[in-house]
Amino acid sequence: NNEQEKLYDVIVIGGGQSALATAYYLRRTNLRYLLLDKEPIPGGSWPHNWYSLHLFSPAQWSSLPGVIMPGGPDYYPTRDEAISYLQKYEARYAFPVVRPVTVQSVTKQNDVFVLTTTSGIYYAKTVVSATGSFTNPYIPGIRGRDIFKGQVLHSSQYQQPQHFRGKRTAVVGEGNSGAQILADIATVTDTLWITREQPSFLPDDVDGRYLFDAATQLYEAKKQGREPDQKPPLGQIVMVPAVKAAREHGVYQALPAFDHFYADGIGWDNGRQEPVDAVIFCTGFRPALEHLRPLGIIQPDGEILTKITKALTIDGLWLVGYGSWTGFASATLIAVGRTAKRTVEEIAAFLQV
Ligand code: FAD
Repeated sequence: NNEQEKLYDVIVIGGGQSALATAYYLRRTNLRYLLLDKEPIPGGSWPHNWYSLHLFSPAQWSSLPGVIMPGGPDYYPTRDEAISYLQKYEARYAFPVVRPVTVQSVTKQNDVFVLTTTSGIYYAKTVVSATGSFTNPYIPGIRGRDIFKGQVLHSSQYQQPQHFRGKRTAVVGEGNSGAQILADIATVTDTLWITREQPSFLPDDVDGRYLFDAATQLYEAKKQGREPDQKPPLGQIVMVPAVKAAREHGVYQALPAFDHFYADGIGWDNGRQEPVDAVIFCTGFRPALEHLRPLGIIQPDGEILTKITKALTIDGLWLVGYGSWTGFASATLIAVGRTAKRTVEEIAAFLQV
C-alpha cells in the first residue's frame, strides 16, 4: 500500500553538496533511498550566496567524489560554476531527489522514523540529516535594533552591491564573508568595518588548497599524537583578488564592536556615534536542526552528540556536513566525501545488508 511505498531504508534530508556526496555512496548499495530537499532547484544553499563569490580553493580541490570540478589546479570557480557543477553532478547520477519538500519534523515510532513534510508523511529505517546551516543565520542581539531606521541584514541575504549604492554601510565580522562583502560594497559606497577581534589576513600566496593541505596534516598528526611537519599559517582572511584590491584602496580600517543602535546609526559606549543606512552582519551560522527537535537530542549548544557523523543518543540517525563536529572539514566540497563514505558504510552495517 501507499504507506509501505513510502518506507525507505534511508531518507537523506537536504539536497546540497553533503546530501549529494551521501547519495553518491548510497547509489552503490542495494538500499532503497530518497533525498528530500526544500529548495526548488539543485545546488543547496549556493544559489543564495552573493553573485560575485568565488571559491577559496582551486577547482581541482573543490570536487565531490566521482567528478572533478572543471577548471584545473589554478582556477577559482565562481558561485555560478559551483551551482552548475552540483546540478550536473545530480543529473549525471540520476539521484532520486524530491523537491521542493520541507521536512518539518522527525519522530521515531517502533524503530521507524516518521518524517512529516510539506508533501505528506514519509517513513525511513534510517535518516541522514544534511541540512547545512545556511537556513539558520546568527545575528548577535544588540540594544536599540528596533529603533534603528536603516536596514539590518545577515550575510546570507546579501546578493549584490547595487542595492547599497549611496547608502553608508557598516559590515560586521572579521571572517571571510565580512572581508569579501566589504570589498564588494566598497566599490559603490562609503563603508565601515566592525570587528570584534583584530582582523588577520593570510599571506598573499596562501589559498584554500594550501589551508586544506595544512589542516589535513594537522589532523593526521593529532590522530597519531605527533607534531605536524607544517603548521597552518595564522590568520583567517584569504587574499582572493577582490580582497587584495580592497586592501590597496584602504578599505580595511577596522572599528571595534559597537554596543547599540540609535535611530540613524550605531554607537559605542565611549560616546562615539556613526550614522549609517545599513548594517550587514557577517556573523556566521548555526546548524539547521529544528526538524530534529522532536527527537529530544539537541544539546543546549544547538548541536547533537555524534561519533563523526553517527548520532550517539539515538539509533539510525547520521548528520553529514555542518562543520568539524561531524568530521574533519565536512562543510567543504573536497572533504565531505570522506565522511559521506563512512556514513554509508555504517548505515549498511546497521541495516545488515
Ligand atoms: P547546504 O548547501 O546549505 O544544503 C542544505 C540543503 O538542505 C539546502 O538545499 C536546504 O534548503 C535543505 N534543507 C534545509 N533544511 C531542510 C529541511 N528541513 N527539509 C528539507 N530540506 C532542508 N565550501 C567549499 O568547499 N569551498 C569554498 O570555497 C566555500 N566558500 C564558501 C563561501 C561562503 C560565503 C559560504 C557561506 C560557504 C562557503 N563554502 C565553501 C561552504 C559551503 O558552501 C557550504 O558549507 C555548503 O553549502 C554546505 O553544504 P550542505 O550540503 O551541507 O548544506
